[in-house]
This record gives sequence, C-alpha cells and structure tokens, in this order.
Amino acid sequence: MFESLQDRLSGILDSLTRRGALTEADVSAALREVRRALLEADVALEVVKDFTDKVKERAVGVEVVKSVTPGQMVVKIVNDVLVETLGSEGVTIDLNAPSPVPIMMVGLQGSGKTTSTAKIAKRLTDRQKRKVLMASLDTRRPAAMEQLKFLGEQGGIDTLPIVAGQSAVQIANRAMQAARLGGYDVVLLDTAGRQSVDEALMAEMAEVYRAAQPHETLLVADALTGQDAVNTARAFSERLDLTGIVLTRLDGDGRGGAALSMRAITGKPIKLVGVGERMDQVEEFHPERIANRILGMGDIVSLVERASETIDAEKANKIAEKMRKGQFDLDDLSEQLQQMQRIGGMSGVLGMLPGIGKMKKQLEGANLDDGVIKRQQAIISSMTKEERRKPDILKASRKKRVAAGSGTKVEEVNKLLKMHRQMADVMKMMGGKKGKGAMAKLFGG
Ligand code: GDP
Repeated sequence: MFESLQDRLSGILDSLTRRGALTEADVSAALREVRRALLEADVALEVVKDFTDKVKERAVGVEVVKSVTPGQMVVKIVNDVLVETLGSEGVTIDLNAPSPVPIMMVGLQGSGKTTSTAKIAKRLTDRQKRKVLMASLDTRRPAAMEQLKFLGEQGGIDTLPIVAGQSAVQIANRAMQAARLGGYDVVLLDTAGRQSVDEALMAEMAEVYRAAQPHETLLVADALTGQDAVNTARAFSERLDLTGIVLTRLDGDGRGGAALSMRAITGKPIKLVGVGERMDQVEEFHPERIANRILGMGDIVSLVERASETIDAEKANKIAEKMRKGQFDLDDLSEQLQQMQRIGGMSGVLGMLPGIGKMKKQLEGANLDDGVIKRQQAIISSMTKEERRKPDILKASRKKRVAAGSGTKVEEVNKLLKMHRQMADVMKMMGGKKGKGAMAKLFGG
C-alpha cells in the first residue's frame, strides 16, 4: 500500500531531517519535490496545491526549539497536513436509525461493489452482531445476483431470494419488506453498475434511492483508477446524497492518488478500504494511521491492534503505552518480534514498523526471515535484565558476552541495537496523539 509514494516522500523528508539548520530555500526546494511526488502519485492538482500551500504557510516562522531539528518540525507539519487532507478523524458506518437500516451500495462495474457489500455484511455480522440481509438489484446481470448469493452462502449471510423479472425498485421494496418481517437490523442493497457514469444508471439510482430512503449511501471506487475514481465519486455525489466512500484495491495501490484526493474533492469521508480479495480484507480508514504509513513512520497503532486481536490485549496495550511515552525497551522489542512470528506475514508487519522505509535496504540485505528473528531473540535473551531495560549500558565487553552467549556476532548485536534505537526514536517523535509526544508538545498539539 502506497509504496512508491512512501519511497519518494520519506526520501525527501529524510534528507531534510538530516540537516542541522534549514533555510527557507531548503524548505522550498523540498516542497517542490513533495509537489512533484504527489503529482506523480496521481493526486488531484488542486489538492496538491492546497497541500503545499498549507505546509509552507505553517513552516514559515516556526520557532526552532532545542532537541528537535527544523527538519523534524517540517516533517511533523507535513504529517499534520496529510492527516487533515485525508479527513482528520476516521468516520465509520452509521447504523443509528430504526431497523432495518437500509444501506445502498453504488459504483461502477468492476469497482468491487459486490465484494465490498459482502465484506461489510460480514463485518457487521461478526463484529457488531447485527442481523444482515443482502439483496442484489443488478437486474441486467444475473451473474452479479448469483455472485452475491454465492458470497452470502460462503460468509453465512442471508440474501434476498432472486425473483426473475422484477425491477430494481421492486427488489428494493421487497428487500425492505422481507427485512421488516424477518427482524433484520440492516439491509444492504447492491445496485447495478455500468462501465461508466451514464444518464440511465443515474436515473435508476435516484429511483432506488427514493424508494429505499437509505441511511447510508456508499460509493465503491477502485483506488487503482486514481483520479478517475475521484471523478466518478464527484459525478455520483452530484446526483445522490452520498454518505461515504469505500475505496477498494488499496492493497495494490502504490501511488495513493485516489486516497489522498477523495476527501478534499468530494467532501465525503472514506469510511472503509478494501485491502484484498478475501472477505475479511476490509479495514476502517484512519487518516492518522494512513498518513504515518505514507510518510514511512509505520503504523504502530494498527500493528498493535492487529496483534491484540490475535494475542493478549493487555500486553499489547501496555506496549503501546510505553511506545507513546518513549519507554520502548528491548523486552518490548523481543515481545514484538515474538508477536510478529505469531501474526505471520513478515512483509505485512514490516511495513507497519516505524522507520522501516529508511531501513528497508538494510533489512533486505540482512535477509530478515524467521531465522533472523530467532537470532535476534536469542541476542535479547542473552542480555541481563538491566541491559534489556537500558541498552545504553551495552559497551564493547558486554556486547562480546552477549554475542558469545547467543551464538551470534557483535555486528549482529549492534544491528539489533541500532534497529531498536531507530524504532524508539521514531516512536518518541511521533508520540501520543493527544499531545503526549515531544513533537506534539512543541507544537502545542
Ligand atoms: P463489482 O462489479 O463492482 O461488483 O466488482 P466485484 O465485487 O465483482 O469485484 C471485482 C474483482 O475485484 C473481484 O475479482 C474481486 O475479488 C476484486 N476485489 C474487490 N475488492 C478488492 C480489494 O480490495 N482488493 C483486491 N485485491 N481485489 C478486490
């Protein structure tokens, strides 16, 4: 997700943070590069302009404070503006209405509408314990109706029985009726798609909208189509009162143009994102986490959350809290490495760790596989309790002892210590959301 944009931006920002003093010209030059990177990522021109203007405005006259370099301040500003561009607060699907709550799904053919409908139904069923009914309104494509039925059977979600010859509005009415009688909490209406936005499609959508009076109207858009997705969203929102966007195929989206432009151009929040073909591969959209990911700052919160779903929640919370306070020690790192193994998917987890953008090459060189993780854990467990708490006391002779004890080399011990230091630094810098972090404090956040 967002790999190419992340590469570009973290490279630009990295060179800023490594400098001691910054002139206005340095900042301008970096911003020109940021601008180019965003345009190449297919972010809408007006969004790019707004973005760089805002960063420039805030960067000028920022006071230089001890312990933070001006470059780090600029990175923080870029991060903040990015979060704002993405919509600041995460917005979720709202079910606060009398049951059955109608949710209408709209979008172009192939955008991932049917898959997303089933994903949402499954999520509402499993996580929020709602009784959900799905109905396909795609009267022109019997295959689409069958697909929804198939997904329903797979996921254990009820679908409205298919009756040939009914219009979309008739099906919508029948779905609402069936839901009322069957005591359903939510009805998901999967409407027909077209190749492109056309008058007939819009007229049909408007008709269904009037009949079903949806509480949520979600547009499904394919992130891979970049600005086209944004233009489609704009066209739909001019005709229907959209309440949110479901952005699919973020898993394959290296550029991030649609994700970045969507909110600013349409004014509608991205409520969910699709991150794979599997039914459980849908996630809430958290602007702050996405921004951290794009800037290569990792996605600690998501990582910890994902871990806590599989592992001990209390432990995970404790680690998260320590990260926020900048007290992340080697015991915590060891715990993280263990969790990483348990969660599986090294590459998935790696992208979420802070500072990894910078270390990627180094890690690739080190061939970070499970064997390496095991050796890293051996290194940590060869340390004394005190050394794990305060890695700074590990000088040459202690390092030698640890290397011998774990059957590794001093170089490897050094590498591990460096990785820990970089992680701890980034964590401290990105700090707590509510102003606990050093950076946030400096900016009165
Ligand atoms: P519809 O025509 O809009 O209903 O599109 P479908 O739901 O049939 O999806 C089209 C294809 O995209 C299917 O093969 C899906 O498995 C795939 N797809 C949908 N969402 C995602 C996603 O978030 N990630 C990936 N990788 N594939 C997706």
